[in-house]
Amino acid sequence: MIIVMKNNATQQDFKAVEDLIVSKGLKPHLSQGAQASIIGVIGDKTRLAVENIEMMEGVDKVVPVMESYKLAGRAFHPEGSVVDVGGVKIGGKELVVMAGPCAVESEAQIMKAAEAVAESGAKFLRGGAYKPRTSPYAFQGLEDEGYRLLRKAGDAFGLKVVSEVVSQNEIAIASECCDMIQVGARNMQNFRLLRALGQCGRPVLLKRGIASTIVEWLDAAEYILSEGNPNVVLCERGIRTFETATRNTLDLGAVAVVKERSHLPVIVDPSHAAGKMRYVEPLALAAVAAGADGLIVEVHPQPAQALSDAAQQLNPEQFSGLMQHCAAVAQAVGRTL
Ligand code: PEP
Ligand code: MN
Repeated sequence: MIIVMKNNATQQDFKAVEDLIVSKGLKPHLSQGAQASIIGVIGDKTRLAVENIEMMEGVDKVVPVMESYKLAGRAFHPEGSVVDVGGVKIGGKELVVMAGPCAVESEAQIMKAAEAVAESGAKFLRGGAYKPRTSPYAFQGLEDEGYRLLRKAGDAFGLKVVSEVVSQNEIAIASECCDMIQVGARNMQNFRLLRALGQCGRPVLLKRGIASTIVEWLDAAEYILSEGNPNVVLCERGIRTFETATRNTLDLGAVAVVKERSHLPVIVDPSHAAGKMRYVEPLALAAVAAGADGLIVEVHPQPAQALSDAAQQLNPEQFSGLMQHCAAVAQAVGRTL
C-alpha cells in the first residue's frame, strides 16, 4: 500500500507514520515529490489497519498497490527517476547514448571505437568482456582484461563505461572497472545475480529477457531495488516472436507501458533487436520518438572483422549519421541529444 500525505503534513506526522510502519515489522519507503509526498509500505500489509492510518495526522489517504513490484512502480514514486552515473544523468530531458562494439577484442579496437563514438556524441562506451554466447565454441570475450581495456579507453576519451556480468564471479572486477553494470537478456531472471547487484554499489542496466513479459522485467528490477540499489535503468532489446526477418521483435509498446507503470528510466537497444545493420537506424529513430531515455548501439571500427554480432554493428560513419538523425527526432519530441 501507499500512504499519501497531505500537503501540510509536518516532519512529525511523517515520522509518526514511519514509526508505526517499522513497529509492525514493515519497511517504509519515502518519496517526496513536487506533486505529492508518499510513504510506500513494503511487506505484509495485513499487519496494518488502513482505518487507523487514515486517522493519523497529516495522512490524506491510503491506496492499495496491487502490482507485485513496489519500489519499481510509479505508485511508490510518481515522478520519473533520474539515474546519475558519475555525472551523466539518465532519465532527464537529454537523451543518453551508449555505444561501442559487441565485444572488446583488442586494445586497438576498443580505442578506435571509443574515439569514434565519443566524437559523435555518445556518453558511454559499451563492450562485452564476458560474452553470453549461444555456442560454447564462439568467442567468449577477453574476460577481466576486457573490463580493464574498456576502462582505459573510456578514460582516454571521457566516456563512462558499461559492461555485462554473466555471474556473481565478475561483480568485484566489473564494479572496479565499470561505471555501470549490465545484466544481459539471458540473465534477467537470474535472481541471485540480481540480488548481488543490488548490493554492488554500481548503477545497473537491466535488459529485458528474451521472452519476458513487462511485469516479469519490472519484478526483476524489484530484486535489485529491494536490496538497496535505487540506480536501475531498464533496456528494451527486442523479444522473441514468430517473426524471423529481424533478430528479435523490438517492443516499442513496452517503452510506453514501462513509462506509465514505472518511474525507472528506459533505454532501447536497436542493435540486438534488428540483427542487421540496415535496420538499426530506423529502430533507433522510432525508439526516440516513442519516449526512450536513451539508446545502446553496437559500433565497431570494422564491423566485417567483428568476432561477434558482425551483421548488426554500425561503422563509425553510420553511427554518426544515426546520431544526427536521432537528434532531430529528439527535438521533435521535446528532448535533446
Ligand atoms: C549485449 O548487449 O552485449 C548483449 C549480449 O545483449 P542481450 O543481452 O540483449 O542479448
Ligand atoms: Mn552483441
